[in-house]
Amino acid sequence: MEPIVIIGSGMAGYGLLRELRKLDRETPVTVITADEGAAYAKPSLSNALATGKAPEQLANQTAAQISASMNAEVLTHTRVIRIDTAAQQIETDQGSVPYSHLVLALGADPIAHGVAGPAAGKILSVNDLGDYTRFRTALAGKKSVAILGGGLIGCEFANDLAAAGYEAAVVHLGASPLERILPAPIAQRLSESLAAAGVAWHFGRRAVSAETAGNGITLTLDDGSVLTADVVLSAIGLRPRLALAQAAGVAAGRGIVVDRMLQTSVSGIYAMGDCAEVEGWVLPYVQPLLQQARALAATLAGTPTPVCYPAMPVVVKTPVLPLTVAPPAPNQPGQWSMEMEAACLVARFKNEQGNLQGFVLCGQAPGLRSELTKQMPSVLP
Ligand SMILES: Cc1cc2nc3c(=O)[nH]c(=O)nc-3n(C[C@H](O)[C@H](O)[C@H](O)COP(=O)(O)OP(=O)(O)OC[C@H]3O[C@@H](n4cnc5c(N)ncnc54)[C@H](O)[C@@H]3O)c2cc1C
Repeated sequence: MEPIVIIGSGMAGYGLLRELRKLDRETPVTVITADEGAAYAKPSLSNALATGKAPEQLANQTAAQISASMNAEVLTHTRVIRIDTAAQQIETDQGSVPYSHLVLALGADPIAHGVAGPAAGKILSVNDLGDYTRFRTALAGKKSVAILGGGLIGCEFANDLAAAGYEAAVVHLGASPLERILPAPIAQRLSESLAAAGVAWHFGRRAVSAETAGNGITLTLDDGSVLTADVVLSAIGLRPRLALAQAAGVAAGRGIVVDRMLQTSVSGIYAMGDCAEVEGWVLPYVQPLLQQARALAATLAGTPTPVCYPAMPVVVKTPVLPLTVAPPAPNQPGQWSMEMEAACLVARFKNEQGNLQGFVLCGQAPGLRSELTKQMPSVLP
C-alpha cells in the first residue's frame, strides 16, 4: 500500500499527522521535509528572547521522536523537486517516493527585501528555526538591530529585542505599525508604546541600499537618510510557496488553490497551511491550519469533511501593548467605534445593521476576548 505523503514538517504538516493518528494508527504515512524535521511552535520565534529561550530549547520533539510516536516515516533533509501526478510519485534529491494521497504543507517564503548594495546579503529574515538560530548567532555580543517592516512580525521582534536590551529601529513604509488591520488610534498607541520601550521608528520610509560599516551595516533609506545597526532583520511579509505545485499543473492564485475539502485542482493532491488558498482566503496563522488539519485528517481517514473557519482572532505578541485583532473582511462596509471596557480599550467594527464584523482588544481580558469572538461571524461557516 502506497503511503499518504505529506511534504512539510511545519505546524501544518505535523498538525495533520497528529490529527490523522488520532483517527487511524495504521495507514502508512511519510513526511518529507527539506529541514531537520524538529517540531516547534513557530510563533515562539518572535518572543523567545523575553521568555529566555535559546534556539535549541524551542524544539519540542526531534524528527526521530515524531516518527516513533506517530508511527510514520519522516524523511529529513530531503527536498522535493518534482511531482509526477500521472505516476503518483514525487521526486526528491534522495530518490522517488510513490503516494496514495499527497498533501502539500510547504509553507511560505519571506518576500525579497529588494535592498541593493554590498551588504544586502547580510540582511537576515526569520521564518523557521534554522533562520532563528542564525539570527541569534548574529546577535551575540551585538547592541543594535534594524528591522525592515512594521507589520505583525516586525512589531513582535521590535518588542522582544527592546525588552532584551537591544536598540531596535524599525523602517516601515506605512504611516503607523500594522496600519492595514488596526484602526488609526490603536496603531498610534502601539507605535507610542513601542517607542516608550526604546524602539526608534522610521515611518513612510523603505531601505534602498546596505553598506558594510565595520562589523555592522549602514542602511540608506529612500529619503537619503542613513541608519546604522549591528544586525538587520527583514520582516516585510511572506509569500506562499507555489513553484512545486505550479510546475505539476496544480492551480495556484495567491496560494495553492483548494476547495473546502482542501483538495487542489488535481485529484488526490491537497494543500494546507501557509501555502494554501482556501476559497480565496490565505490566512498564514496557526488557528486556520489547525482547523484544516482536523478536517483533512477526517477526510483522509474516510469521512469526507469540509474545513470550517470560525472567527479566528490573532494575538499580537507585543507585551508593551497586548493586542487581539479580528480584522473585518476586506471591503466590508462599516465603521469603527472605540470604548473602554474592563480596563481595556476595545475597538468594534460594525456594519450598517449594527452587527460586529471586526474588533481589536488592547489589553489582557480573556473573558471579553471570547465574548467578542462569539459575536463575530464565521469566516467560512
Ligand atoms: C516569527 C513568527 C511569528 C509568528 N507568530 C504567530 C502567532 O503569534 N500566531 C499565529 O497564529 N501565527 C503566527 N505565525 C505564523 C505561523 O507560525 C505559521 O502560519 C505556521 O507556522 C505555518 O506553518 P506551515 O507548516 O504552513 O509552514 P512552515 O512552518 O513554513 O513549514 C513548511 C515546511 O515545508 C517544508 N518544505 C517546503 N518546501 C519543500 C520542498 N520542496 N521539499 C521538502 N520540504 C519542503 C519545509 O522544510 C518546512 O518543513 C508566526 C510566524 C512567524 C515567522
